[in-house]
Amino acid sequence: MYEVAIIGGGPAGLQAALTLGRMHRRAVLLDSGRYRNAPVRHMQNLVGFDGRDPAELREAARRDLAAYDSVETLAGEVVRVDGALGAFTLTLADGGRIDTARVILATGVADTLPEIPGLAALFGTAAAHCPFCHGHEFAGTRVGLIGMGAHATRMAAMLRPIAAELVVLAHGEPVDPEVGDQLSRLGATIRAERIASVAPAGDGALVTFEDGSTLDVGGILTATAWRQAAPFAEQLGVAIGPAGAIEVDALGRTSVPGVAAAGDAAVGPGLPGPMHAVGLSIAAGLTAAAATVQDLVSEELGA
Ligand SMILES: Cc1cc2nc3c(=O)[nH]c(=O)nc-3n(C[C@H](O)[C@H](O)[C@H](O)COP(=O)(O)OP(=O)(O)OC[C@H]3O[C@@H](n4cnc5c(N)ncnc54)[C@H](O)[C@@H]3O)c2cc1C
Repeated sequence: MYEVAIIGGGPAGLQAALTLGRMHRRAVLLDSGRYRNAPVRHMQNLVGFDGRDPAELREAARRDLAAYDSVETLAGEVVRVDGALGAFTLTLADGGRIDTARVILATGVADTLPEIPGLAALFGTAAAHCPFCHGHEFAGTRVGLIGMGAHATRMAAMLRPIAAELVVLAHGEPVDPEVGDQLSRLGATIRAERIASVAPAGDGALVTFEDGSTLDVGGILTATAWRQAAPFAEQLGVAIGPAGAIEVDALGRTSVPGVAAAGDAAVGPGLPGPMHAVGLSIAAGLTAAAATVQDLVSEELGA
């Protein structure tokens, strides 16, 4: 019987495990090996690791964890979580079971890209979804924006100091006239045609439209739709907000006693929406684990 089971071995889960290990709490971390940033070789915007391979961070974290005897790490897929505070059971894909008093969900989210041939293959190199993560890498080039809808103006305004030129690739979707006016005030142009395909071209990409015309870009910022990567919040009846993120309080606690959540999967109070970044996931993992330790202590003290 573990005190805490952490599901997820990305930045949020690894940090939660480190915090629990440092407090000598008996914990297990389960990792199915599907990381959201797996397509990228360069992770940005994390102080001390800017530009490094995300796999390096995970390897360094696992080396750190090896120093703490109370934490076990297991490779494996969890398929089901049942139970309640003090008595949760995790069922693994190989039929194994893990009993734990508490659970931290650090299972992340999974992306779905607009259905444009070639876009998925470029995602993580010449195409990205986050200007904080990949905007600087497209500096001084023509940048194409896909699938932003009304958010195109905000994206264009964020990229204006970075990109040499901004082109909204509307892909046949109508552009609201007000959005069009704002975009032109920002110096962005609009290509209305549907995109036939995107393909790598040098360090950037070649966009081919259905009418046969083409456009070279240094990079593409694309919207993605995301969903929970794992079904455990639903299985446990944890409250999920309108954007699809697990709702947590400022300490990472969900609506279900004994279940905390951290990282991309969760959203805390007071935020305009989920904020997805490695640094924020690390902070959330630490917070959820520290709060879990406090909850264990309160139980022990009968407080
Ligand atoms: C293309 C791309 C590039 C990005 N680049 C950057 C960047 O440069 N800088 C930055 O700050 N952020 C970047 N991000 C965002 C960053 O990847 C996430 O914010 C971060 O990975 C979230 O960490 P996490 O621990 O919540 O989830 P993840 O890192 O996604 O980890 C989820 C973990 O849960 C595990 N898991 C899920 N389901 C199960 C299950 N059923 N059983 C067992 N384990 C399970 C997975 O195997 C994995 O270990 C990028 C995202 C994408 C898509």
